[in-house]
Amino acid sequence: MRTAARRADVGGRVVAVVAGVLAGLTVRATAEGPQAGCTPGRLTPPAAEGPYYREGSPRRTSLLEPGMPGVRLRLGGGVFTRTCRPVPGAWLDFWQADARGAYDLAGYRLRGHQFADGRGRYALETVIPGGYGGRTPHIHVKVRAPAGPTLTTQLYFPGHPRNQQDPLFRPDLVVALREEPGGVAGSFDFVLDVD
Ligand code: FE
Repeated sequence: MRTAARRADVGGRVVAVVAGVLAGLTVRATAEGPQAGCTPGRLTPPAAEGPYYREGSPRRTSLLEPGMPGVRLRLGGGVFTRTCRPVPGAWLDFWQADARGAYDLAGYRLRGHQFADGRGRYALETVIPGGYGGRTPHIHVKVRAPAGPTLTTQLYFPGHPRNQQDPLFRPDLVVALREEPGGVAGSFDFVLDVD
């Protein structure tokens, strides 16, 4: 916690966000989420696309840029079929607000797509987004198996104080989160409605 907070030295607001995230982790991980691990038939629910998606994001696994404010987040996991078989080559397109809650609407800052590896794994380096308007912090993502339908959804952070005020928040879209040197590591497994 101290490490993450110190590195996120962009104001008390961001530090408070991280404190909330980590404080909620141990008590809420079980109640809020099964997201590390696939349960057959338990599909990842869709969520609103929102107004800020842009097609054509660059292919990259790190959205970090020099000097980018915010707490570093390493997010990873698997993409699975409804029977929990991995989906190699699945396409994942991430987009999010920056630590202050602002989207890049002119370029592709904090936007990027990638393809799951041969074991259906993905990995993303980014920062914890800020909330905005009535929204609690979230990361948008589209996930698609090769030749499959596109799942559009959003990921949330455990224990964030704004979760309960956001009508779009869903506990089954919360990432599992743990502290690590320099930031936090999150995991979330996507289960798609494909064979
Ligand atoms: Fe959003």
